[in-house]
Amino acid sequence: MKPADPVAQAALPDSRGINLFNADPDYAGLLRLYLEPKLYAHLLPHFERLGALAGDELDKLAATADRNPPVLHQRTRSGEDRQWIEKHPAYRRLEEIAFGEYGLAAMSHRGGVLGWPAPLPPVAKYALTYLYVQAEFGACCPLSMTDSLARTLRKFGDPALVARYLPGLTQQDLDALTQGAMFITEQGAGSDVGATAARAVREGDAWRLYGDKWFCSNADAGLALVLARPDGAAAGTKGLSLFLLPKMLPDGSLNHTRIVRLKEKLGTRDMPSALRSGAYTSRLPSAYCARSHAVTGRPSTSPILIAGFSNSRTKSERTLAAAMGSLPASTSPVGPARWSSRAVTELAARARWARVFLTTT
Ligand SMILES: Cc1cc2nc3c(=O)[nH]c(=O)nc-3n(C[C@H](O)[C@H](O)[C@H](O)COP(=O)(O)OP(=O)(O)OC[C@H]3O[C@@H](n4cnc5c(N)ncnc54)[C@H](O)[C@@H]3O)c2cc1C
Repeated sequence: MKPADPVAQAALPDSRGINLFNADPDYAGLLRLYLEPKLYAHLLPHFERLGALAGDELDKLAATADRNPPVLHQRTRSGEDRQWIEKHPAYRRLEEIAFGEYGLAAMSHRGGVLGWPAPLPPVAKYALTYLYVQAEFGACCPLSMTDSLARTLRKFGDPALVARYLPGLTQQDLDALTQGAMFITEQGAGSDVGATAARAVREGDAWRLYGDKWFCSNADAGLALVLARPDGAAAGTKGLSLFLLPKMLPDGSLNHTRIVRLKEKLGTRDMPSALRSGAYTSRLPSAYCARSHAVTGRPSTSPILIAGFSNSRTKSERTLAAAMGSLPASTSPVGPARWSSRAVTELAARARWARVFLTTT
């Protein structure tokens, strides 16, 4: 018998081309338990297509996008002093599939996504997201922040704000889409968010925010939730408020924030994360501020923050998430292996970024 080629033997098995949905029959079984039969039957072709995409096209796009990270430009082609972020076409395609074709950020907020007349339940969204993120995690951050921002706005925002911004946040046409972001972390306020130093100053009918935000993923998003402390408010988390920061002001001019630089990250390199700005000021007409004080009746937005960030609050979501987390690797031969390499990259990025900040300008 001819001995096996030692080089071929040493090579890692290649999962490219595997349909990540079909390769994981236990996953389909789990979804049949948690989705209404009619909805499961309706979504089945979408699961199958996304499983095929994640095993092939999305995987290739993610690799290309990771090798071609976004670039921050300071001026337009005609010389105007206007910052903009150039993203590789592979990343744009990843966005198109997630926001556009699958409507993952919109499906919880309105009907009509994937041909289903009502908003889709969270379990459907995360079932699709679970397939998508096995290929691409970077674009999932803006996706999740857009979805969470829409959710926070719908739940706590002034009706006028909801009317103004929700349609853009739930678009599937990328040219009309407003993406969301969350500018929370500061150099001295990460886990200890109560140490937030950004100030919010009321000026007539406007709020002006002062401060630096240290880690702003989806840095060029059209809308961001920003955490700041109104002057005179209590120390710690109790005194914090949440503001809605539009990139563009109502008169069509750019809001007064600046990206200092994009982060050098080890993971999610295709998605722009930025340090925002030494002299960051944001003029927010009061009509554009999240009405956190009015909603909670006190200068604390902790419940709003929690609602915004934990986008998986329903029992079925938690159950599914727990069930997914506790699946033994053998039940999902492809997924967990791919997940873990991404997760390792993320962890490595988290461990390293503090050093990166200290060593780069
Ligand atoms: C890829 C990426 C994208 C990000 N995007 C955004 C974004 O869009 N918007 C945003 O606002 N932020 C963003 N962040 C920042 C992120 O929210 C913070 O990194 C996070 O809140 C942790 O804060 P920190 O990094 O300052 O870590 P620290 O709070 O300094 O923690 C460092 C270490 O100390 C541990 N630690 C902290 N406190 C305690 C304690 N009391 N007891 C025991 N251990 C403790 C932590 O577990 C951690 O291991 C992003 C980060 C990454 C890596």
